[in-house]
Amino acid sequence: MVRKERVFIPKPKSAFLQAVCVKCGTENVFFSNSTRDVKCKQCGEVLGRKTGGRVELTEAVGEEIRQIDYA
Ligand SMILES: [Zn+2]
Repeated sequence: MVRKERVFIPKPKSAFLQAVCVKCGTENVFFSNSTRDVKCKQCGEVLGRKTGGRVELTEAVGEEIRQIDYA
């Protein structure tokens, strides 16, 4: 049985993530290893919580998550 979950493959280098807020549909771009809680720039909904490492995404993040490499 395959469970569908959002799992990020850990990478040694951090990256920028692009996620859509489910509350207002706004696209947000944030740092995957942010040291602060990530909030939607439009409505302020918390999209990710700081963990000391990689940001833990909340339910407010839609399915459309992309990793952006600026390499
Ligand atoms: Zn929002």
